[in-house]
Amino acid sequence: MIQFVDVSKKFQRKTVLENINLTIQQGEFVYIVGPSGAGKSTLIQLLYRQLLPSKGIIWVNQFDLTKMKAKGVPYLRRELGIVFQDFKLLPKLTVFENVAYAMAVTEKKPALIRRRVLEVLKEMGLANLRHRFPSELSGGEQQRVAIARAIVNRPSIVIADEPTGNLDPETAAGIINIFEAIHRQGSTVIMATHNHELVDRRPHRVVEIVAGQIVRDQAKGAYHYAGIRH
Ligand code: ADP
Ligand code: MG
Repeated sequence: MIQFVDVSKKFQRKTVLENINLTIQQGEFVYIVGPSGAGKSTLIQLLYRQLLPSKGIIWVNQFDLTKMKAKGVPYLRRELGIVFQDFKLLPKLTVFENVAYAMAVTEKKPALIRRRVLEVLKEMGLANLRHRFPSELSGGEQQRVAIARAIVNRPSIVIADEPTGNLDPETAAGIINIFEAIHRQGSTVIMATHNHELVDRRPHRVVEIVAGQIVRDQAKGAYHYAGIRH
């Protein structure tokens, strides 16, 4: 459902991703790992067509992103839920409004919006915080609002770029649990992170990028400890 074919990305003359070939099937949970500056965020931005590649083809669901015109982008984005390190909530809207705002793009009936937003907020354990503003929430709560907003339209693919980067380890583990629950409900989840500690403990596919190239693509369930597979 997602395919990168010989994808390279250059900024000016600097090659940031080089000949990336990657296929992700529907329903997979994939970690994109690698050191800071490796190209993880660039790869994520290519996925939601924030960036176009310098070379190669990118398929996401039925869309060829390299042939997609600007007016096609909203149709792509409807199938994606995107979560960022810095949450990107709208500061002047309440928790409820932040999530409802994302849904109002496609759904016009207020009763349906209300029902679905409350359902997602409940799922995220946020129902009783729905009248608060982002500034009145902890980091973990803000990220749960951002996740609620990302999944309110039931996207087939959830993409997260360092979603735990601003959170303490305990809160981060809770956020990963939420992504795992979303995955169990059927979504594809793709998460860029440089938090190896979290990744190593979870049985998911790991794609490692170093200096713009894939150096490891390790299948789900392959456990390693100090280089020993077990
Ligand atoms: P990561 O997310 O793995 O830390 P990034 O994808 O953000 O890495 O960045 C990869 C490299 O591309 C870095 O060297 C970064 O400086 C460079 N880069 C990212 N975005 C741009 C841009 N818009 N213009 C120029 N260089 C960029
Ligand atoms: Mg990054």
